[in-house]
Amino acid sequence: MKPVTTNRRATGLIEAICEHGVGHPVYGSVDWLIKVSGDDTFGIHACDGCCKDNEWQIDTLKASVRRANEIIYQQKETLMRVKTMKEFFDDRPNG
Ligand SMILES: [Zn+2]
Ligand SMILES: [Zn+2]
Repeated sequence: MKPVTTNRRATGLIEAICEHGVGHPVYGSVDWLIKVSGDDTFGIHACDGCCKDNEWQIDTLKASVRRANEIIYQQKETLMRVKTMKEFFDDRPNG
């Protein structure tokens, strides 16, 4: 499956829309929601069979790991900037 677009539901669930207009929950998103809510029905959807191929599953997992890494890097950069500011003020003679 090659998702045409993705959609974010009010519950936070991310779904990929296939070429037939059917929404298929993205695997990393389903796992995460089940973990935080304890509700294991998030993966249930009116499926036309498009999300059943392994390559798509691996791609969506890779994409969610990549996104998680980006968030971690952004936070690291922010923390480093905060540290730099602190050093700047600490180094001032009458600081
Ligand atoms: Zn489809
Ligand atoms: Zn599906």
